[in-house]
Amino acid sequence: MNRPAETLTMPNVIECINPATGERLGEVPVDDVAAVRDKIARARAAQQVWAQTSFATRRAVLRDLLDHILDHADDICRDICADAGKTLENAMMGEIWPVAEKLRWTIRNGERYLRDERVSPGLFLHKKARIEYHPLGVIGVIAPWNYPFQNIMGPIIPALMAGNACVVKVSEAVAWSSERFGKLLRDTFAAHDLPEDLVIIVQGYAETGRAVITEGSDLIVFTGSMPNGRKIIEASAERLVPVILELGGKDPMIICDDADLDEAVHTAMSGVFIACGQNCLAAERILVMDGIYDAFVERVSEMARNLRQGPPLAGQTVDVGAIVSARQVEIIDELVQDAIARGARVLAGGQRPTDSAGQFYPPTVLADVTDEMRIMHEETFGPVMVIRRVADDEDAIRVANAIDYGLASSVFSRDLKRARRIARQIQAGATCINDFGFTYMAQELPFGGVKGSGFGRLNGREGLRAMTNRKAVLDDRIPLHQPVKLFPVSDQTYDEAHALIDLIYRRGLRAKVGALARMVRARFGGGS
Ligand code: NAD
Repeated sequence: MNRPAETLTMPNVIECINPATGERLGEVPVDDVAAVRDKIARARAAQQVWAQTSFATRRAVLRDLLDHILDHADDICRDICADAGKTLENAMMGEIWPVAEKLRWTIRNGERYLRDERVSPGLFLHKKARIEYHPLGVIGVIAPWNYPFQNIMGPIIPALMAGNACVVKVSEAVAWSSERFGKLLRDTFAAHDLPEDLVIIVQGYAETGRAVITEGSDLIVFTGSMPNGRKIIEASAERLVPVILELGGKDPMIICDDADLDEAVHTAMSGVFIACGQNCLAAERILVMDGIYDAFVERVSEMARNLRQGPPLAGQTVDVGAIVSARQVEIIDELVQDAIARGARVLAGGQRPTDSAGQFYPPTVLADVTDEMRIMHEETFGPVMVIRRVADDEDAIRVANAIDYGLASSVFSRDLKRARRIARQIQAGATCINDFGFTYMAQELPFGGVKGSGFGRLNGREGLRAMTNRKAVLDDRIPLHQPVKLFPVSDQTYDEAHALIDLIYRRGLRAKVGALARMVRARFGGGS
């Protein structure tokens, strides 16, 4: 795939290529700024209808969407694999499964977290206070390529449940499959006599993505790289559009000297090589303590050397597939070669193939990685296990926190107290203890990062509510129509207010009685 990540003059079509074989899949027209504006307007019209629907209707639509996905799961997986070069197993486990779980969770819990919520009125005992969760309107989703199906569905499920419509600017690298996923959504809406424009796919490069921000969306959910996250904020400043940024990661996996070796080895292999490493939650830095270092390195190196790689749809089972873009292969290789030049030991892979029609990078293990190597702090987004030796818990925590990213993390130890103590000190949006990545599947948990990994949360209660205007409403409990008559301000107003504040907040009966007396004097004469 040789498609520009950002272009000054937009090509008007996207050439779609299977990255594992080089086969041409087709082409997709690019949306220019006017087309994006038009799509946002259409989505807004559809949203007006959708916003009037009950939670029961929204649940029914999402339930049918889930059925539709389950009925077409094989086709969806094959389309994902053709477009992104990933394995069928990863498409089923990493795309269909989390989307199905998110739908199940949202259908079950959406109303609970989105209906009006009574809260305390504080001092105003004669009033009732509640939070109302109103839809924002049109949610502009800007998605990356690594999970072509899930990256689209992840934000739109809570957005729809909360009464919004969506325009989804998909990645230019997976334009082909997203056209199919758009149709699946339109078919579901049509079956309920709802407007098909509730979710509209937008195709193009950076300029098209920018138009999603500048041409009328009410909230932007951007998932992508840290440098582009900065550009999203710049564009959103023009109209003050709120943004949720789900950016990259360089997640640490800490393996303590008392960890279960077998568990740590297998989980590290998944954490690094799932989706050929093109995973925002990838275990990009394996921090292994002295006592277990050599045994761990030996086991993972042998396993990595035996991984089978190739085109996923060619008839043979493979462990890892392709890299979605030629540029990404270059980035991975640059980081690997820099590490090797600075003394990292290559125990598997480490050389890009020259004889393949597709875009591959071999499963690679680098041991004895040190902090001055770029691969310790720059996102690899590829099948590279980066192993750094750490002395003890404190050293592991220091190294884990020493970079600009903070998406997720994991800790392995048989001593749960120790693992929890380490976990609490890692600066990240999530930590899995003796596991990897499953915080994402536990949909009740929020998902998002800190530091350069972004801000805002998807998933769970917070993810649903992020798609709403959380409106504060104060209402009558007892219709006591006694307005606060502030104007005209009297000579006693200041003293009376001061006494009232003392009455409420001073400690001790004596102080309160004194404040009450001052209040009475201020109100009924006699001065302070
Ligand atoms: P990317 O930043 O290059 O592109 C993401 C999307 O933004 C694409 O649709 C692209 O066309 C669009 N875009 C690029 N420049 C833009 C601009 N100036 N204005 C508006 N839109 C613009 O990311 P990518 O290479 O597609 O994906 C890989 C990155 O995404 C990695 O950094 C990865 O960690 C991150 N990611 C994060 C998560 C998460 O949930 N935190 C999930 C998946 C991927």
